[in-house]
Amino acid sequence: MSEPLLRVRELKTHFPVRGGLLGRVRGTVKAVDGVSLDVRRGETLGLVGESGCGKSTLGRTLLRLVEPTAGSIRFEDRELTGLSQRELRPLRRRMQLVFQDPQASLNPRMTVREILGEPFAIHGLARGAEREAKVVELLELMGLPRDALGRQPHEFSGGQRQRIGIARAIALRPDLVVADEPISALDVSIQAQIVNLLVDLQRELGLTYVFISHDLKIVEYVSTRVAVMYLGRIVELADAEALYRQPRHPYTQALLSAVPVPDPERTRTRIILQGDVPSPLEPPPGCTFHPRCAHATERCRREAPPLYPVGEGHTAACFLVEEEARRVAAGVAVAEAPKAAGGE
Ligand code: SF4
Repeated sequence: MSEPLLRVRELKTHFPVRGGLLGRVRGTVKAVDGVSLDVRRGETLGLVGESGCGKSTLGRTLLRLVEPTAGSIRFEDRELTGLSQRELRPLRRRMQLVFQDPQASLNPRMTVREILGEPFAIHGLARGAEREAKVVELLELMGLPRDALGRQPHEFSGGQRQRIGIARAIALRPDLVVADEPISALDVSIQAQIVNLLVDLQRELGLTYVFISHDLKIVEYVSTRVAVMYLGRIVELADAEALYRQPRHPYTQALLSAVPVPDPERTRTRIILQGDVPSPLEPPPGCTFHPRCAHATERCRREAPPLYPVGEGHTAACFLVEEEARRVAAGVAVAEAPKAAGGE
């Protein structure tokens, strides 16, 4: 297997919380708390979890748009964490972000010509007629009309604005695109168009995506592999097919139980998650999912489970799979792993 494009190890992004008149540090929000994963070239790694689980912070930390507190991010053979903003600059064109809200991410005073020409200007890559030709080419790739060039973002629909945002992100033909909830601000009727555009662009330009979303149906459609996040950590990671067919972590099982199954012959028992995600300011001890987990034991309240390997490229951070992981490690064939609670 080829080297991953991005290799992340023990990544942490903590934010101090200040309070009082003197602005003293009162606590720490552990938005990302020890994440390790690889992003393979050409794949789409889906990143899912409820709001507040840290997935957006992780996405931004991967691009060094948010500074990590600790850990390692290797992009090909370069370690990103120690680089100055100046040293990062040539790499920036190879790693881009697609924002959730194109309205907020596009400068309302700039025309589309200026917005799409800006990446070429910043990196000194094309000027004059050559830049104009590249901007027109981008418009065509996005299915936007040529007369869009002289118009400003407010003159477009939400879907068209997101096309402009995507065009800007891919203008310099990046290797890695982090798409942070790229369709959640759009009307349902045009979400599929934008998703299909992203899929087509990936095929055409050989892009690698980290696709962040709380919509598990869309993530299943676009992803090669999926990582499930809870309170700043990865709790399950697997090929999309394996994860959706046989989720191992009770949190993944609960999330998937809420996804409608299109086949009327198949049913799924809904698992209702109690309460909200706890505050990352005061995460519960042991397994941070234990206050919401129907299977929690005394051990879960004391000890944090590691990510256990339960199959080819499939890991889950839950004591319930510990025995199975031992058999997998010993090379003993697992006849049929226990069916997930809430599975089909
Ligand atoms: Fe539930 Fe315990 Fe597994 Fe955590 S380790 S998910 S509390 S069973």
